[in-house]
Amino acid sequence: MAAWKPFSLIFSLALLILLLLPLLSAHATNSPNSHDKTASPFEFLKGLQGCQKGNKTKGIHDLKKYLEQFGYLSHNHSNEDDFDDILESAVKTYQLNFHLNATGTLDDKTVSTMMMPRCGVADIVNGTNWMHLGKKWHQKSHGSFHIVSHYAFFPGNPRWPQSKYHLTYGFVAGTPTAAINAVAQAFRAWASRTHFTFSQAPSGSRPDIIVGFFRRDHGDGLPFDGPGGTLAHAFAPTDGRFHYDGDERWTVGAVSGAFDLQTVAVHEIGHNLGLEHSSVPEAIMYPYIPSGATKGLHPDDIEGIRVLYNISNHGCFESFFSLLIGSPPTPPSFPFEYLKGLQGHPKCYAHQVSPHLRISGGTPSEAMNPVAQDFLTWASNTHFTFSQAQDDSNADIKIGFSRGDHGDGHPFDGAGGTLAGSCFCTDGWEIPL
Ligand SMILES: [Zn+2]
Ligand SMILES: [Zn+2]
Repeated sequence: MAAWKPFSLIFSLALLILLLLPLLSAHATNSPNSHDKTASPFEFLKGLQGCQKGNKTKGIHDLKKYLEQFGYLSHNHSNEDDFDDILESAVKTYQLNFHLNATGTLDDKTVSTMMMPRCGVADIVNGTNWMHLGKKWHQKSHGSFHIVSHYAFFPGNPRWPQSKYHLTYGFVAGTPTAAINAVAQAFRAWASRTHFTFSQAPSGSRPDIIVGFFRRDHGDGLPFDGPGGTLAHAFAPTDGRFHYDGDERWTVGAVSGAFDLQTVAVHEIGHNLGLEHSSVPEAIMYPYIPSGATKGLHPDDIEGIRVLYNISNHGCFESFFSLLIGSPPTPPSFPFEYLKGLQGHPKCYAHQVSPHLRISGGTPSEAMNPVAQDFLTWASNTHFTFSQAQDDSNADIKIGFSRGDHGDGHPFDGAGGTLAGSCFCTDGWEIPL
């Protein structure tokens, strides 16, 4: 008679588990501390793979909400689950912004991009899409060229006043030390590449930027969505709010399944300083970040902030062109590494607009093609961009051939000897014939 006891125990346990299962799984989905990958709020997108105009599928309503959240659709979801013209056009805009084939169909790549965890700030604010305006650099005929960057600003270019280059930051009470240290590092990263300086606000004073962790609806109209989905958001100048989603698994460094506090802080501080999302995947201002990854500032981010604040520094400009003359810019090696160091120097802010290359009347055309190629090489290895000036007055670099004493106090010495000289900053450089 002892045999029925274990059987009855197993049966009872199985019954108990069956009864509790719905409760347990409901708990796993709703728990703020659940890090179950399947719980991502963007998971519904998987079921929409292959959807296109004309389809009517459950879940399209959620896609509309997703595209509305990130600025691709305005709130007017008539026929909620219909894949209509308006939705197709929103999907195409999204695809353009992320360098995907703009088919308007939810193909594999579009779905996998959309499903990545991301910043909660919209890509398009007030209907103006700046992200797609950036295009890869292209070379025109006759040796002229230009490069367009991908960074973007908020509508109306909000920024901190020019006189306010020192910003203070503070934390909501209870912020973990790991986050305080990571955010301080992120501020140091921005300080090393811009005119800004940052310090932690003394207790009792009101900081310019305030950082904290929040869950779900936290009263700013931008509710977080639990684990996965949106990770953080921050407000344009001079608001100063920067919120982490407290339901994410946060960490320091690249840890599988977790998000790096510092990487996300560098991104969100970019918003606090006035940068919007960039379509350059390597840029810190790219809106998506996978778990287990770290990232830092990219030339696209630096150039964006410099353009927004009109930062210029002739000292660095001079060093750059000294290098241009001193070391022919062929394979990226020493001079490019040196320039990277230069960019990080607190006093080096380069200049705010592309230096313009002007072809003077006395320059043989066969000399201009190699020069143009050299600028392309520099542009692809540094944060500088170049374009050919339309007239003398807006040219930053003037190239010409001169002989002997040509009026700048640095006479050439005939054949052999010195080959070229340059007057930097605003004078451009010259090559002797
Ligand atoms: Zn963002
Ligand atoms: Zn918030």
